[in-house]
Amino acid sequence: MADRLSGKVAVITGATSGIGMETARVFVREGARVVVSGRSTDKGAALADELGESAFFHPADVTSEAEIAGLIDAAADRFGRVDCLFSNAGAPTPGGIETITQDELDYGMRLLVGSVLFGIKHAARVMKAVGGGSIINNSSIAAHRSGQGNVVYSAAKAAVSHITRLAGAELGPVGIRVNAISPGAIATPIFWGGSAAARELDEAANARKLAKLERNLALATPMRRTGLSEDIAAAALFLASDEGSFINAHDLVVDGGRIAMFHERPQGAQ
Ligand code: NAD
Repeated sequence: MADRLSGKVAVITGATSGIGMETARVFVREGARVVVSGRSTDKGAALADELGESAFFHPADVTSEAEIAGLIDAAADRFGRVDCLFSNAGAPTPGGIETITQDELDYGMRLLVGSVLFGIKHAARVMKAVGGGSIINNSSIAAHRSGQGNVVYSAAKAAVSHITRLAGAELGPVGIRVNAISPGAIATPIFWGGSAAARELDEAANARKLAKLERNLALATPMRRTGLSEDIAAAALFLASDEGSFINAHDLVVDGGRIAMFHERPQGAQ
């Protein structure tokens, strides 16, 4: 099947790398018109070129409400509607329980929580005009267990999962479904500092890091294979399409069973 998103318009944040980039490819293949967003204009333009006339790039830093609003408005102006928002952008956020600073907390909350909340706010006002839509927030299994990220990242993702429930309940009556995906260990540059760090390395060095990461992550799930961006893109496609039309206020864990695993042995254990 290759038309599950035929006629639909989708906006994807953080589309210049990893999960967002793969989701943009899948959405276009399935017939959607897609606005890809990110901070890197050269990578965004290259992706829009690759995707062809069904896509265009609009830059936005998701720590800014004004830029999120501008992104949604740009999509509605160009394509006349917005049916899906995938609030995917994110990055590692510093901040441990005993070291946290005010700045780290503020940055983590703006990046991971503010982006999702303002995304819902501005997508909802445009989606209402066309009778509904599907908002998908990228959360994490860090929202549900320890050992997946520091306190700022994990608490922010827990907020993403709960905001999803609240928004799904509030916006359901106007036809807007709000769901989250909680990925497990997915091989992307986020593990070596995010797309900003990946930009500092050449293609061969990034490929080496990815291959090593895939081997390690395969050991971190019961299925003994790494999670791939394609796995999350497939979940996003399901939630964006009519196949997901009765799924609302749900947090879909896509992790090969990692959430059910007992934590790794503590360092130093025999
Ligand atoms: P990635 O680093 O490959 O991609 C993240 C994208 O977000 C990049 O395009 C980056 O430029 C963008 N971004 C970061 N800060 C931004 C900002 N201020 N404004 C706009 N864009 C910004 O990582 P990924 O693994 O594809 O991550 C995508 C999402 O999935 C993130 O929200 C992440 O927290 C979540 N996630 C990833 C994993 C995993 O194992 N990879 C697991 C759970 C959740």
